[in-house]
Amino acid sequence: MAKTQPTVLVVEDEHAQREILGYNLKAEGFDVIYAANGNDALLHLEEQIPDVVLLDWMLPKVSGIEICRRIKRQKDLRNISVIMLSARCNEIDRVRGLETGADDYVVKPYSVNELMARVRNQLRRSRPSKVGQRLEFEDIVLDSETYRVTRAGHNLRLGPTEFRILGCLMEKPGRVWTREQLLDHVWGRDIFVDSRTVDVHIGRLRKALCQHSDNDPLRTIRGIGYALG
Ligand code: CA
Repeated sequence: MAKTQPTVLVVEDEHAQREILGYNLKAEGFDVIYAANGNDALLHLEEQIPDVVLLDWMLPKVSGIEICRRIKRQKDLRNISVIMLSARCNEIDRVRGLETGADDYVVKPYSVNELMARVRNQLRRSRPSKVGQRLEFEDIVLDSETYRVTRAGHNLRLGPTEFRILGCLMEKPGRVWTREQLLDHVWGRDIFVDSRTVDVHIGRLRKALCQHSDNDPLRTIRGIGYALG
């Protein structure tokens, strides 16, 4: 079963903080994974690619800054939104946080409501198909709030997996996705699915998209993967 809701990895060594963040993120409808230190965070990232990481700066073992650097250096992790959480509030630290590639920076003690708004904000930018945004590519419109896809005004019937694949592709038109990347993003890293399954679903998606049009918007890059446009 492919997953729909965004996943947030909470990296925080203080138990109470972790609980508060987890509680509020779940109330927003997100999947939450937890790490109590830097090493745990790195292990989780090998298993699963979250959509957002809430990353405490001061952590035992590997620091938040170092984790952020590693995320932003690694090709398959680079697009994860990283929000740094830190009690250090002077300007220099803030700049340093952003220089390591963090997408946002929140000073402790923070307002949970504001932090949730920032998480949603990152998701609207990085994973719009997961937070009810409407996406358009040429004559194709995908509305992830109503789960409707139209092409040139015609309603298309898509299965849930085809819908998620299309959402993924429409977030970054032109980007070439390998089968493994699509597996990670559509099914999740922790689920074993044969990469040929991707081909099957792409085939179905292509058929649905070409129902009312001869123009095939999906590009197959032989031996590599797929792109939209
Ligand atoms: Ca800490």
